[in-house]
Amino acid sequence: MITTILTAATILCTLSPSSPTTDRYKGWVMANVEIACPEDIQFLRDLGAKSLACYDHPGQTQMLMTEKMAEKARLHHIATKVTERDIASYIKKIDQVRSEARNSGVGGWYSDFKTWPEVNLHLQQLANSDPDIASVFEVGTSHEGRTIWGIKITSPGDATDRKRILFNGCQHAREWIAVMVPVYIAEHLIEGWKNNPEIQSFLDTTEVVIVPIVNPDGYEFTYAAGGDRFWRKNRRNNSGSCEGVDLNRNWDIDWNGGDSTSTSTCSDVYVGPSVFSEPETQAMRTLIESLPNFVTHIDFHSYSQLILKAWGYTSTPHPDDEILQALGEAMHDGYQSVHGEQYTVGTPGDVLYYADGTFQDWTTSVGALGYTVELRPTGSPGFDLPPSEIVPTCEESFEGVLAMMRFVSNPVSISFPNGLLQFVNPGEIHELSVSMQSPLGGSIDPTTANIHIRYGETGTEATIPLQHNGGGVFTANIPGSLCGLSTKYWFDVETTSGQYQRYPTGDTVLTASASQLIEEFTMDQNPNWSTEGLWSWGQPTGGGGQYGNSDPTSGASGNNVIGYNLNGDYENNLSEKHIVAGPFDLSGTQNTQLQFSRYLNVEQPAYDHASISVKGDVGLWQTIWTNQSEITDSQWQTVSYDISAVADNASSVSIRWTMGSTDTAWQYSGWNIDDVSISASVEAGVVGDVNCDGLVNVKDILTIISSWGPCEGVCAEDIVPDENINVSDLLLVIANW
Ligand SMILES: [Zn+2]
Repeated sequence: MITTILTAATILCTLSPSSPTTDRYKGWVMANVEIACPEDIQFLRDLGAKSLACYDHPGQTQMLMTEKMAEKARLHHIATKVTERDIASYIKKIDQVRSEARNSGVGGWYSDFKTWPEVNLHLQQLANSDPDIASVFEVGTSHEGRTIWGIKITSPGDATDRKRILFNGCQHAREWIAVMVPVYIAEHLIEGWKNNPEIQSFLDTTEVVIVPIVNPDGYEFTYAAGGDRFWRKNRRNNSGSCEGVDLNRNWDIDWNGGDSTSTSTCSDVYVGPSVFSEPETQAMRTLIESLPNFVTHIDFHSYSQLILKAWGYTSTPHPDDEILQALGEAMHDGYQSVHGEQYTVGTPGDVLYYADGTFQDWTTSVGALGYTVELRPTGSPGFDLPPSEIVPTCEESFEGVLAMMRFVSNPVSISFPNGLLQFVNPGEIHELSVSMQSPLGGSIDPTTANIHIRYGETGTEATIPLQHNGGGVFTANIPGSLCGLSTKYWFDVETTSGQYQRYPTGDTVLTASASQLIEEFTMDQNPNWSTEGLWSWGQPTGGGGQYGNSDPTSGASGNNVIGYNLNGDYENNLSEKHIVAGPFDLSGTQNTQLQFSRYLNVEQPAYDHASISVKGDVGLWQTIWTNQSEITDSQWQTVSYDISAVADNASSVSIRWTMGSTDTAWQYSGWNIDDVSISASVEAGVVGDVNCDGLVNVKDILTIISSWGPCEGVCAEDIVPDENINVSDLLLVIANW
């Protein structure tokens, strides 16, 4: 099916970005507001301030308000910092950046945000180029008569029994990145079908339905001359002073329930005159009711970097919460794998506020696994994401979507709620939490859940049942060889109907390297690192905390730490101040990791900065971490960083922590650091060498025979790690003689 939706002539008018008139917000300012509780939000709404978040939430949030409202907020003890005094020039500035990005052409079609006609044309071109697998279709018509377009993608052949997955964007007009991402997914699924066997096999069993712009009227209004860049709702004429309904409050799931909803037509969360009152939500409902085997759904929004699962309207967990969580974590891992960005998984109530009448809850209520993904950034500059971040956001979203497709394609999804192991310490057993979920109504047979372990590349594998903790939750006990070989491992399980799943797939295995502690600083004594500004060693005094939390009163271990101003907050208008550890000789190391205990409070990076960098033999400082949002630690936590790219096998490695730069207001208590260590992998042992003397000989045979029998924990003689010193260990010695 090919439907012509536009002619090229229509497009010529929109080649350069157009923007709303800039005098709409004359006298208004943009402000960062510190929200402590829901009452603060209500107070600001009652004043007439306009929140720029997709979901209102505690902590820092961006709002539009007049200077008078800002003054009233401060009198009400709501910390309010004006960031833009002139909205018109703010919009001009953004237009300028967009024009430059579009003219540069970097990122191709994704160099800049695209209007409704541009998106429609691109969808049509994608379908025209591969009509065997892609077709454009009409979902419905908006209030103002615009067509809502979708694209369906699946392998040729009878699609009747295939699973259906839905991705949509732009229920909320101003969240522009949420349009670019679904278009990118469509384009790269079509591309992948031609050259990526995994995507081919997904599309053999799945039809992907994509609707990039659910709310074309609102979306066009955010670009139009005389429109409003900050518009969120659709464009219903409410026959009064205010237009629009919040489409993401109009769905039939606890509609108008009072959580983040309003019956005022002027509110940004106006629920509409009745449930499903809007042609846009009606059209999407009709589409979904026409999809058999509808299994999963993502409703894209921005911003905050969140993966929100059902339920959004209640604290009662969904009956399939373990599956919703496991799929959320799989998507998180997909997102993180591309550019390292964190997307927090939880219900709206876990991470923000409850919200009634949302799309994700409705699709979940009709049997799919429904999610809201809030895209980049975490905070400032909100939905005005710089165009240079369109492609990275699309790239990581595509990996998130592939993780979702893998999850619904595999009979069992295997994931690791606390991550995988980097290291095992020789002679210790490490517990690894394993989640095994059968996503689509099947169930796993817990008696078939195993870990397969060997020591070193050529060791013999032992099979050990996982410890079952109920539901899909298991624990694997992973030992480290006493002789310093790496531990290789993988998992498998079957469903009750006999379907098999391995992790990782194929014949690859996971590796936990034997670790060697190279440097350790407990901070019980002064390490005498070189310092600038208020960096020092000693006991913190619990001071500071004008914003965020005050300093701790002792270390993570012992009393002393390294900290920036042990007696209070960092200064305003600070330039970068470093503390430098090293240089360390790390010659011969592999897989070098930095670990330390952190207690950090710092304002979001639009204003204040905290960072860590590493310098190796090349002699240039490389940043390995910098705050991506406001950080308000209230307890010590252990953090680890992979510094192998700079530090592996380098003869002179320095590490520095940096406080600053900071801006003119809002002080926080800054860095506190304890228990710093540097570790690296070693592959010290020889397979078959029971007594760790570097030789495989008769002494090893005799050692095995003298310890014959069951082994509790890790035993040197148990070189095939099956908790038995037996003939398999003997055979491995002989094989490596
Ligand atoms: Zn939104």
